[in-house]
Amino acid sequence: METTPRLAILKILELGKGKHVSAEAIYRRLLKKNIPLPMSTVYRVLGQFESAGIVQRHIFDAERSASVFELNNKVHHDHMICITCGSVSHFVDKKIEERQLTIAKNLGFELTDHSLNMYGVCCSCVAIDAARESVSE
Ligand SMILES: [Zn+2]
Ligand SMILES: [Zn+2]
Ligand SMILES: [Zn+2]
Repeated sequence: METTPRLAILKILELGKGKHVSAEAIYRRLLKKNIPLPMSTVYRVLGQFESAGIVQRHIFDAERSASVFELNNKVHHDHMICITCGSVSHFVDKKIEERQLTIAKNLGFELTDHSLNMYGVCCSCVAIDAARESVSE
């Protein structure tokens, strides 16, 4: 059975439902499944998906210019990103959403879109760090 690059990449995105994956991670997962695709193909397909509205692209770290992709569920959410391992969590907070509308209104804006990215260290990275410190003591 032949798997097209588009289908194979879509499968990877569906498996990671609600997760954010980088093009590199998709490339590695395809390799593991014995579907070696050139990196350029992965980027091309993701670009096609993006313009078709199938995936959303986020660029969390402009400096490292690492984009992550997720299936477009068309539901607004904000992000919390671990600066150590790069893991991404979703959240929606009604109060924050309302506050932003109020701020925009006070500045005379009609809010059309926003993105809120929070950066920090996730609990598993904190745990790894604590374990390292106790070893070196
Ligand atoms: Zn929001
Ligand atoms: Zn982490
Ligand atoms: Zn997201």
